[in-house]
Amino acid sequence: MNDSPVISGAAEANLHHPATQTHRTKSTCPYCGVGCGVIIESQKNVITNVLGDPDHPANFGRLCSKGSTLHLTATPSVTRQTRLLQPLRRLSRSSQPTPIDWKSALHLAAQRFASIINEHGPDSVGFYLSGQLLTEDYYVFNKLVKGLIGTNNLDTNSRLCMSSAVSGYKATLGMDAPPASYEDFDHTDCLFISGSNTAWAHPIIFRRIEQAKRNKPDLKIIVVDPRRTDTVELADLHLALKPGTDVMLYNGLLHIMQWEGWIKPDFISKHTNGFEKLKNIIRDCTPERTAKICGLRTEDLFLAAKWFACSAATLSLYCQGLNQSSHGTDNNTALINLHLATAQLGRAGAAPFSLTGQPNAMGGREVGGLSNLLSAHRDLKNPKHRAEVAAHWGVSDVPELPGLSAVEMFQSAAEGKIKALWIACTNPAQSMPDQSMIQRALEQAEFVVVQEAFKTTATTAFADLLLPASTWGEKMGTVTNSERRISRVRAAVEPAGEAKHDWWIATNFGKELYALLSPQRRRTQDIERFLPYAQGESIDAVEQIWNEHKSLTQGRDLDITGLSYQTLEQSGPQQWPYPQGATKGTTRLYTDYLFPTADGRANFGLAEFIGVSEAIDAKYPFSLNTGRLRDQWHGMSRTGTVGKLFGHVPEPAIQMHPQDIERRRLVVGDLVSVSSRRAKLVLPLEASSSVGLSQAYIPMHWGEEYLSGCSATGSRIGGINALMPSVYCATSKQPELKHAAINVKKADFAWNVFAMAWLDTAGGAEALSVKERLKTLMSLFAFSSCVPFSDSGNQHNAHIHATDTQSKPVERTGLLFRAAALETPPEELILELEGHLGLSSAESLHYSDTSKGQRRTLKLLNNEEETYVVGFLLSGDTSAQSWLRELLVQSTGVKHLGRMLLLPGAKPPVPIGPPTRVICNCLGIRDIEIKNYLNEYATNPSNSRTQEILLSQLQSSLKCGSQCGSCVPELKKLVREHSLIL
Ligand code: SF4
Repeated sequence: MNDSPVISGAAEANLHHPATQTHRTKSTCPYCGVGCGVIIESQKNVITNVLGDPDHPANFGRLCSKGSTLHLTATPSVTRQTRLLQPLRRLSRSSQPTPIDWKSALHLAAQRFASIINEHGPDSVGFYLSGQLLTEDYYVFNKLVKGLIGTNNLDTNSRLCMSSAVSGYKATLGMDAPPASYEDFDHTDCLFISGSNTAWAHPIIFRRIEQAKRNKPDLKIIVVDPRRTDTVELADLHLALKPGTDVMLYNGLLHIMQWEGWIKPDFISKHTNGFEKLKNIIRDCTPERTAKICGLRTEDLFLAAKWFACSAATLSLYCQGLNQSSHGTDNNTALINLHLATAQLGRAGAAPFSLTGQPNAMGGREVGGLSNLLSAHRDLKNPKHRAEVAAHWGVSDVPELPGLSAVEMFQSAAEGKIKALWIACTNPAQSMPDQSMIQRALEQAEFVVVQEAFKTTATTAFADLLLPASTWGEKMGTVTNSERRISRVRAAVEPAGEAKHDWWIATNFGKELYALLSPQRRRTQDIERFLPYAQGESIDAVEQIWNEHKSLTQGRDLDITGLSYQTLEQSGPQQWPYPQGATKGTTRLYTDYLFPTADGRANFGLAEFIGVSEAIDAKYPFSLNTGRLRDQWHGMSRTGTVGKLFGHVPEPAIQMHPQDIERRRLVVGDLVSVSSRRAKLVLPLEASSSVGLSQAYIPMHWGEEYLSGCSATGSRIGGINALMPSVYCATSKQPELKHAAINVKKADFAWNVFAMAWLDTAGGAEALSVKERLKTLMSLFAFSSCVPFSDSGNQHNAHIHATDTQSKPVERTGLLFRAAALETPPEELILELEGHLGLSSAESLHYSDTSKGQRRTLKLLNNEEETYVVGFLLSGDTSAQSWLRELLVQSTGVKHLGRMLLLPGAKPPVPIGPPTRVICNCLGIRDIEIKNYLNEYATNPSNSRTQEILLSQLQSSLKCGSQCGSCVPELKKLVREHSLIL
């Protein structure tokens, strides 16, 4: 790495170093909407490393824990185990898929879609895409569906992410255009972070906020969130509002601002409409009423209102806490109202600024990639706009009525109206709410195509046809991040196996389909002219698509006609608008207070507080919130391939406040039954004082791939989204994924199993493949979970590591499996489980009492000096897992323990510390090491008690938080908690 050439400019985006044979390719991170630039290192068509791009204006060389481990998701081993490498076809839904060549696969897809469209019309098919597609992919799909097929039934998982932000912007500022830039963090005086755990969901932005606070200690940071998240660690004021009361809070703040004379009447009268009507709504939002409804203190409301309105520049950051709501549009407009009333926009450091969840949700919106959007921010309802797009595409018209949004599309499929579904690079069987409805839809549809990079997602189980797609490191095109910045995505290696680019698949499917459509269904006379890009898979074809999209933006708010691939190569990523004649992109919007509305004025939203869709009650007394983990991304099809990323949060669990746990007589660590009006799941229970009373929290990532089981009636239980309601905002159609009323009760199971084993060892099975095989067993238990773990290549454990060609220890990965049932399952099932985990060798130690359902199996590794536990299974009484787990993970020598290792019970035969977890993933530093350091530090009375000094001492001694920085907020929390004890 050190002897690789330094890349200084975007023009040198692809470099080759002859001495090391290392290619370095500039691209972007495929995870969140921060849109960080990366440099991919590759050798001989294999990705070997990833670095932050120092020239990329989003991250200036930094990457978070997810971005910095991207190369580990693209190793030959991960590719072999998890990637979809050739087209596959299922002859029946219950059968195993078998290989099919590309030509036949596309012909089959075209045949099935054409016959359905010919018979039932274009609205009988639906396309569900991903915010992770590149702009060029999106453009071709949009043209294919709205232009060639003639339906607006094209939606994407951006519907679950940003559609409330879109409708909020359009309703107030006129267009779907975030007005601010990341550099505004350096100019703001008050940062109002609402409904966003930025520290975990957008870590590199949080690094910039931390820097801004260091540079400007007077910067006021207000965090609005029902939970005390890591983001709150940086806050001067935390407003822990009750779930779903956002509109009440913003209206209450506006009430205070008005009565205190903190609003800007001149700005309101010159540049806005609707304030008089809004005054009628906020009149009743008195501080007392607001405080009562939101569960806040009136003095905190006054402080927040004052800081927001009276600071020289206030910037709001907001994300899914506002968007994923049955009144998501109101949440957005009510917040933007505060900016309009106080003139906090249009200048450096002052604006409402939505944080995009996905890497290219913005690019998708630019090409009109939702069922109610049209290319280049045009309006479907506007006949002139439709005619412009139709003329550009060479078709007679573009359908006028909005198509089905995500939830509607699957509901329609469940009712048999949508008969064919095309799902591209997204995993609705994990991410959509009300999973039983989604499963019904996927089962009911006559034909389901899943176009995917990974064969491991829950949705692939429902596919009649699986089409392998290229992915990060292989794709080329463009993406747009949260600050409207367009970056080039470049390919470092060839697509794996027979994978094809998404735009190529859409184009070639389109041509096959056209040939099979009946003459009256054909909407163009010249298919080659309509889809002219498929001449090879070169960058020229991708650029051709982008140029076509670009020409549609002329005169629109997102005009990029002055931009070219060449400019992006030479000058690096650029922010739109970038019209002809421009020499650089646009940092911030509405600096002239001219808004893209009919009269040039912004509009106040008339949002009234209505609360969540299902209130908590005696039967469902807890409000369930869902959100992200620091080191995982969405359904974990990619991050879930890296054992090290499970170090911070190793297993699915539900978090509740300790007082609620005590009141309900529940026990931390026990399995609990979590029920909503739609489903019942079983999960381990965790205590967390970051969760409010009468609330609960489960990370959004745990889908059926990791958390499963079967109900009393024998039906399969999906992941946590099975609990969530499919109710959605009437305007944005974004579902309420942030709240479900639930109950939590002790789960009584007569039988449990707990097993762990290192895999990926020399000659052993590979963990990710074993995990796939275990999936078939998971649904045989009432509860089951299966997750990878690793030792992050920990040098302490070098004595039992496999080594690479340079004798360096390589990261080992294992699997942790647990399950529970009402009755002891047949012994064969346990033996099968042991077999998958490599525990059934003759050398394994066993204890078995079949009559009592007890079984303990231990696999040991002996070398000349020591013995180590490398795998174990406990069936029946699993309490010994508390210490066996630590012996295994820490690779503790156990030679002296002999058969004592088979003892039952939670009491270890030798002293063993409490369970530990990784805090700093880059260096594998665990909480126990940090706590030990802090305890030792405290013993010296001359050491400073100042939290900043203590943190800096900790970091310089252990080096934790010195790499990607994602753990810094948690380090601060540990230091703060420790300082309270001192
Ligand atoms: Fe990727 Fe992390 Fe940057 Fe998001 S913040 S783009 S996940 S490196």
